[in-house]
Amino acid sequence: MDYLVVVAHPDDEVLGAGATIYKLAKQGHTVNVCIMSGEVKARNHRPKMTELNEDVNNSLNLLGVSKVIKGQFPNIELNTVPHLKLVQFIETAIEETKAEVVFTHHPADLNNDHLHTSLACQAAVRLFQRRPEVKQLKELLFMEVPSASEWGLNKAVNQFNPNTFIEVGKEAIEKKIEALSMYRGVMRPYPHPRSAEALRGLAAYRGGQAGMVYAESFESVFRRGF
Ligand SMILES: [Zn+2]
Repeated sequence: MDYLVVVAHPDDEVLGAGATIYKLAKQGHTVNVCIMSGEVKARNHRPKMTELNEDVNNSLNLLGVSKVIKGQFPNIELNTVPHLKLVQFIETAIEETKAEVVFTHHPADLNNDHLHTSLACQAAVRLFQRRPEVKQLKELLFMEVPSASEWGLNKAVNQFNPNTFIEVGKEAIEKKIEALSMYRGVMRPYPHPRSAEALRGLAAYRGGQAGMVYAESFESVFRRGF
């Protein structure tokens, strides 16, 4: 199976689906990642571009990601980019990677780039309907990104509400934490949601919700064909 994880920023893919990526890659599936904003200027600790590229490569190699597609859309300013441009970029990534299952942000996340990535991705996954030569989509899932999803304060929209639980086990959670630590300046001390303890705790909680030993949870919003 060919999987594609579409995220706004480097590190979102690990926060949202790092353990699942590791598990799928280990099972022999192909997992690719599309990052809309490779820019670093509005990031807190501002690593240099070469450092960020290194961090992305180290982190995603550890998880077993096959290919990373990086856009240069402006960080924390995705709302200034025409929707169509974001959609077309994701469509190209879907076509190139022959993605059958796509993971992206939940549109109620606090981070505005996550919203715009999610909206563009929802439009882009329909590509196969217009272009018969494009591999047919099997599933679209929203991820939860600790420090962004739980801060979705707009109660006028539906919040992240998981209905899909992937058991990953202790090893994959530790790989997720290790992969996230390879991004300079991302991990924080507990009780920050991007701390090792909080990430383990979330995985234990999501696992417990579904009777599983550590899980990442998702919201499946479209599913067909199997
Ligand atoms: Zn992000």
